[in-house]
Amino acid sequence: MPEGIIIKALSGYYYVKPLQDGSIATGEETVQCRGRGIFRKKGTAPLVGDRIIYGLTENGEGTVDEILPRESELIRPPVANVNLAVLLFSLREPDMNLNLLDKFLVHIEHAGLEPLIVLTKQDLADDDHEATREVKELYERIGYEVMVTSSLTGSGSEQLRDRLAGGVSVFAGQSGVGKSTLLNRLVPGLELETGEISLRLGRGRHTTRHVELMDIGNGGFVADTPGFSQLDFLELGVEELSVCFREFASYAENCKFRGCSHLHEPGCRVLDAVEAGEIAGSRYEHYKLFYNEMKDKKRRY
Ligand code: ZN
Repeated sequence: MPEGIIIKALSGYYYVKPLQDGSIATGEETVQCRGRGIFRKKGTAPLVGDRIIYGLTENGEGTVDEILPRESELIRPPVANVNLAVLLFSLREPDMNLNLLDKFLVHIEHAGLEPLIVLTKQDLADDDHEATREVKELYERIGYEVMVTSSLTGSGSEQLRDRLAGGVSVFAGQSGVGKSTLLNRLVPGLELETGEISLRLGRGRHTTRHVELMDIGNGGFVADTPGFSQLDFLELGVEELSVCFREFASYAENCKFRGCSHLHEPGCRVLDAVEAGEIAGSRYEHYKLFYNEMKDKKRRY
């Protein structure tokens, strides 16, 4: 029985790319498959990103017979086996938004995904190398991987392509950061509208409605994820927040009080570290901001 990966789910059909030894069989066409009733009975459903066993039927279609064990499962957007969350943030137009970047990072840490921060539009920040360097260093010091690309010259997109080889990545970020331009460079044959007009108005366009994996040709797949941009903290408990700031961990374990909120407690090592400049001020400010936002929400619901 052949093995494949679901790259799209639409109107009751699963679109499957055949796999050989776990990687894409080149030149093979997508097989249009139906799911089997057994999944519904078990209360599960195949997801985009699932590696599956399928059977071929006489009319050239197929059936999804078995879902292979998942390494991970994202709920919003519904994608299985995601290895990497690529966070696209521009240095200019729109300006770097560290608050939103930290918010994304909290969600990604909570989902247990590995983030990769990609700074776009390097060309627009060419007059200000310092700004790029500062953001890059700030996040690299925490232990995050940071790459810099230019949508104008295309620099950095080959390195990014190599980094995405052999895995499933979800792309997320602020609107108007040049996501479509970058995806067009990464995915052979893809011609997404880049929405330059709406970009000038400072708003990105949302054209993607369903999740689909795009084959980048080196065994890697990327999913553009509209759902990812609607972030709220409903699924996250306030006591889980500090864990999602990974650089707090080594300090937090030495706080005087168990369950320290790191806001005002005496003997708080996180506060000491902020004071000493070992934890970046912007990160701590955002921690406080999100903490209060979550408390407010709890009161309202
Ligand atoms: Zn503390």
